[in-house]
Amino acid sequence: MKYVILMGAPGAGKGTQAKLLQSALGLPQISTGDLFRYNLKNQTDLGKLANTYMDKGQLVPDEVTVAMVKDRLSQTDCKNGAILDGFPRNLVQAVALDNLLAEIGGRISVVPSIHVNQDVLVERLLKRAEIEGRADDNEGTIRTRMDIYEAQTKPLMDYYQERGLFVEVNGQQPVEQVQQELIKVVQQAE
Ligand code: ADP
Repeated sequence: MKYVILMGAPGAGKGTQAKLLQSALGLPQISTGDLFRYNLKNQTDLGKLANTYMDKGQLVPDEVTVAMVKDRLSQTDCKNGAILDGFPRNLVQAVALDNLLAEIGGRISVVPSIHVNQDVLVERLLKRAEIEGRADDNEGTIRTRMDIYEAQTKPLMDYYQERGLFVEVNGQQPVEQVQQELIKVVQQAE
């Protein structure tokens, strides 16, 4: 079993790398952002609710997010592990994840974090806004997402560092290179 939490600020390349890792390692990628967007596209109640937070760049309430991840982790394709992308994003979610994994007899193997400087992040997100037209990639919400990341998600680095699970990878390298480093980090993890 290998449960991997991929960390990184908005724009660090988590989504891109998690998708590549999914095929390289044969583990499913669980992206809470993608799950919310999928629900929104299908106009489910969950999607509509999540969107009232997403379009402001705020976090969707923890109960809603944790319940969605619990449901996803209980599916059979996750029984050998998974790559979590965008979750946990705060301490409440991190503790909830520990409990969810304990219930299924799993634990976190490693927490790689993709590091990119703040000015590069903003530049990337603004470019993504132009290309993909993601509703939450605009200057106002980018600032909110960065602030939430700094205040709530970054402290998780200490949480995992204390448990010897945290490994930082330089995200300002070509995608392929970042990918190779991440594969190595995950393969070396127990
Ligand atoms: P980003 O590039 O900002 O990391 P994501 O696609 O991961 O984008 O997430 C987009 C939005 O989805 C977030 O701004 C937030 O509103 C919501 N979201 C995603 N993951 C979580 C989570 N773990 N907890 C609460 N809200 C979340």
